[in-house]
Amino acid sequence: MAAITTWIAHVFLSVLFSLAYLSVIRGRLDQDYRDQLLSSAQKDKDWLVSIRRQIHENPELCFQEHNTSALIRQQLDQIGIPYSYPIAGTGIVAQIGSGSKPVVALRADMDALPLQELVEWEHKSKIDGKMHACGHDAHTTMLLGAAKLLNQRKDRLKGTARLLFQPAEEGGAGASHMIREGALGDAEAIFGMHIDNGSPTGSITLVPGPVLAATCFFEAKIEGVGGHAAGPHSTVDPIVAASFAILALQQLTSREADPLHSQVLSVTLIRGGSAFNTIPPYVEFGGTLRSLTTDGLHKLQQRLKEVIKGQAAVHRCNASIDMKEEEFPPYPAVFNDDSLHQHVQKVGRLLLGPENVKVGKKVMAGEDFSFYQELIPGFMLSIGIRNEGVGSIHPPHSPYFFIDEDALPIGAALYTALAELYLNENEHSILHQIF
Ligand SMILES: [Zn+2]
Ligand SMILES: [Zn+2]
Repeated sequence: MAAITTWIAHVFLSVLFSLAYLSVIRGRLDQDYRDQLLSSAQKDKDWLVSIRRQIHENPELCFQEHNTSALIRQQLDQIGIPYSYPIAGTGIVAQIGSGSKPVVALRADMDALPLQELVEWEHKSKIDGKMHACGHDAHTTMLLGAAKLLNQRKDRLKGTARLLFQPAEEGGAGASHMIREGALGDAEAIFGMHIDNGSPTGSITLVPGPVLAATCFFEAKIEGVGGHAAGPHSTVDPIVAASFAILALQQLTSREADPLHSQVLSVTLIRGGSAFNTIPPYVEFGGTLRSLTTDGLHKLQQRLKEVIKGQAAVHRCNASIDMKEEEFPPYPAVFNDDSLHQHVQKVGRLLLGPENVKVGKKVMAGEDFSFYQELIPGFMLSIGIRNEGVGSIHPPHSPYFFIDEDALPIGAALYTALAELYLNENEHSILHQIF
């Protein structure tokens, strides 16, 4: 009996020691992986900074990213990475690895904003009225950096990485055009990142589930009958009708939406009349709708039309509503996949340390990354650029927006690890063996 007990204890201890030994080995492998990847990315820092500055000095708006796209293609040619072009006008899809499944996609956006840069520095935008104020110059550079790193490691890749350089994130729904032209290919998952001035360089923040809003714009026209302001009874006053309509709209979010389901309805412009003594024939107003669910946005759009038409009718006016879908396609909500959240968390902790991977905040801004997520699981993370020392403190879309370029090699390494480790983990999936 005593012998059996000793034997069990022996087996138990052996298993325990083996597990401990394996975990030490695993830890050492993890550390080697991190050190090697980060140091390779750091070696490319000067190149990354110079690419980012070239893009920053020459910002291009939605679907006009011709020079940016040419620069990326020239660099891919030099590195020796094959790609498809043009996709969605200026878009590029580069492919690295075995060419077989599993396939994982990484995405960066290339467009700038119609904004005058007010930062006085050596590499300020050379184009008046255009600026990379949302960090897309950094996203593009980080993904190009990842292309180089993945190419150095291509013989080890257990599948294929597809790198999507897309146009027109700022309102043009470039992602939906990329999809229509086959950019996703056989990709089964996609990762994207956005710079974040709220968290320090070297850190990332993650939000599982809904993180960014479904968004759209609208413009309404309320028509009455204009006339002299001294005789309102002989007019049909569209100013009063529009005022009632705008106030009634506020109740859609305060009275009709579930308080636990975030929604925004903002009227941001109004035009009507040009004289103190004349009631105008019509009034135009417009704004934006937002919801953390795509379904919530559809309901809000429907009710917006009903309320404006109803209020116009009460005041004897006619209303027409334009959802501006041609010019500004509605964006679905960004919804981060739960299992990819586990992956990003694990990779982030491995590469940056657990203390530098935090829970992020949901925001009612939109992002066309959501179009990819309608088709395959995707995850969009925020990468920190905050550094008071270099003035990297302003939010995106500010004319003072400024990036800490130390974040560039970190982003390149992170994109690389997200793809490489995803392929390692999904190599033996049963689905890939069957198809
Ligand atoms: Zn933006
Ligand atoms: Zn952006």
